[in-house]
Amino acid sequence: MITSTVCEIVWFAGLVAWYIIRYPFERRAKKVGVTKSLFGWRESGLLSLAFFGLWIVPLIYSLTGFPAALDRPLIPAIAILGVVALCGALLLFYRSHADLGKNWSISLQIRNEHRLVTTGIYRFVRHPMYSSFFLLAVAQLMLLPNWFAGATGLIGVGMLYAFRIRQEERMMMERFGAEYRDYIARTARLIPWLV
Ligand code: SAH
Repeated sequence: MITSTVCEIVWFAGLVAWYIIRYPFERRAKKVGVTKSLFGWRESGLLSLAFFGLWIVPLIYSLTGFPAALDRPLIPAIAILGVVALCGALLLFYRSHADLGKNWSISLQIRNEHRLVTTGIYRFVRHPMYSSFFLLAVAQLMLLPNWFAGATGLIGVGMLYAFRIRQEERMMMERFGAEYRDYIARTARLIPWLV
């Protein structure tokens, strides 16, 4: 039986799985020093916004039902699609971390001995981890039967992406030059051959 409580449990289980996947990669990457960092108030604001949209708003909604005025009917087929999107997001998230290895950081940073990764999932798109964020936010929209609590993840992730992507690519271009320019020429950002 698909109820809104079941959907909420699935959503939070997905978020917990997300952190379980990240934890070992984060530990390994943090041991490597950083040569350049663009971390500042802007980056922390954007990261907090995404966290708020994906975690805090759904948590308030699940505990209090707020904002009840924006509830929508729960459509089982959409909820099932939400579970599929959630599994896809987690899989893509895992692949991105596995392929990026110690070159990963939560913010925009260049690590010591930073290597440009263009293989694995990075052969198809330049930003598979951001693709996985978007897929996660779409899963939230499909799983939570409330227009506000469903949509805030997409808003947070959308803002993070919109305000970060040009800076990130500029930073990579400064570090890797022609190698990154060639990589841009042959890959899309989020969806293979499309965008
Ligand atoms: N935008 C990428 C990575 C997100 S993590 C994605 O969505 O998959 C952010 C860090 O990854 C940045 O600090 C940047 O230094 C690093 N990075 C981004 N693309 C990379 C690549 N192709 N190879 C190595 N490091 C990369």
